[in-house]
Amino acid sequence: MTDPFDDTYFMRRALQEAEAAFEKGEIPVGAVIVVENRIIARTHNLTELLNDVTAHAEMQAITSAANFLGGKYLNKCTLYVTLEPCQMCAGALYWSQISKIVYGASDVQRGFKTLGTTLHPKTEVVSGILAEEASALMKRFFIEKRNLN
Ligand SMILES: [Zn+2]
Repeated sequence: MTDPFDDTYFMRRALQEAEAAFEKGEIPVGAVIVVENRIIARTHNLTELLNDVTAHAEMQAITSAANFLGGKYLNKCTLYVTLEPCQMCAGALYWSQISKIVYGASDVQRGFKTLGTTLHPKTEVVSGILAEEASALMKRFFIEKRNLN
């Protein structure tokens, strides 16, 4: 029997968050943080609503998970995020000592890999989970945005 709580399962939940961002006119990036198959944080990008360039999905997920756990380190947690984290988020994830990062689509322009940002040495990285869905949502967002202007 296959594990129903696999990376694809949780990435679907992150994608639901990205869709919620899309509905609000936010760049559609969603994230969830999971501990032992339990979602302890679910967030999406809120840079427009909060008028804050640091309000990326991952940043809020880190804060939310730490609040939930009552401790600042996320070394037993897995982050699922629909888009490759940027430098800022990768930096924050470094400090969180997060155990694992699973991301969907690559961000060749702003992603931490292109820009050479290092993660915590103990952080495992998995990429490409539901990448097509995540990038299709991003593309649809920018096409609709262009058509509104
Ligand atoms: Zn970011």
